[in-house]
Amino acid sequence: MEKPIKVFKTFLDIVLPPVCYMCGKSCSSKYGLCDFCLEKIHPIPPPHCQKCGRRVTTSESLCAECIAKKSCVERGWSCCHYKDTIKECIHLFKYRGYVGLVDIFKDVMAGFIKKHRIHEEVNFIVPVPIYATKKRERTYNHAEVLARSLSKFFVIPMDTKNLKKIKWTQSQSELGKEKRLKNVKDTFLAVDRNVFSGKSILLVDDVYTTGATIDECAKILLLAGAGKVFSLVLARGA
Ligand SMILES: [Zn+2]
Ligand SMILES: [Zn+2]
Repeated sequence: MEKPIKVFKTFLDIVLPPVCYMCGKSCSSKYGLCDFCLEKIHPIPPPHCQKCGRRVTTSESLCAECIAKKSCVERGWSCCHYKDTIKECIHLFKYRGYVGLVDIFKDVMAGFIKKHRIHEEVNFIVPVPIYATKKRERTYNHAEVLARSLSKFFVIPMDTKNLKKIKWTQSQSELGKEKRLKNVKDTFLAVDRNVFSGKSILLVDDVYTTGATIDECAKILLLAGAGKVFSLVLARGA
């Protein structure tokens, strides 16, 4: 079966040469992005804040925000800044259904995981959940798609059943900093606490803005008995 499909794909490539998702120029990259757009993806260079991945000076281990808020996360990483190609691609992925972009996201995140040896520390990958109605509207949870690709790549189990979002909330991006904290409070639930007991968990999400959602999820997982909670996001807002 594979051969006819390959021939058909090659035929399609001749009739309809692949174009870059971003700029529409022809491209041959496996990601569907041209070299010019790919070059605009830059991982955040070290040193990083240990809790949120923001770039800090060499004398700091935590950024001022993380010192002030006492995050529950043991260690947190952010791969890129939310701008340029990554921002556009996340938008296409979340709101326009370009699920194929998960390959580039997976490779960016996997590179970060390998570099920091995160995979050696975690027992489970858990995507930040979204409320059931929102999932039905969007047809999928984007964080879950990212988490699944990492789970397959590193052969680390993913759990999507035991951390649930139990209330509808206004989108965090529509709110100011103070309101974001209140907005996510008491909105997550650990369904079967035994699953998390004593385990090291990696929370995965696409975008980090104030970290209120990640912190709340980490708090719930720790209350459910998790040993340590780490976090990894594809991009951070500031
Ligand atoms: Zn391009
Ligand atoms: Zn920080």
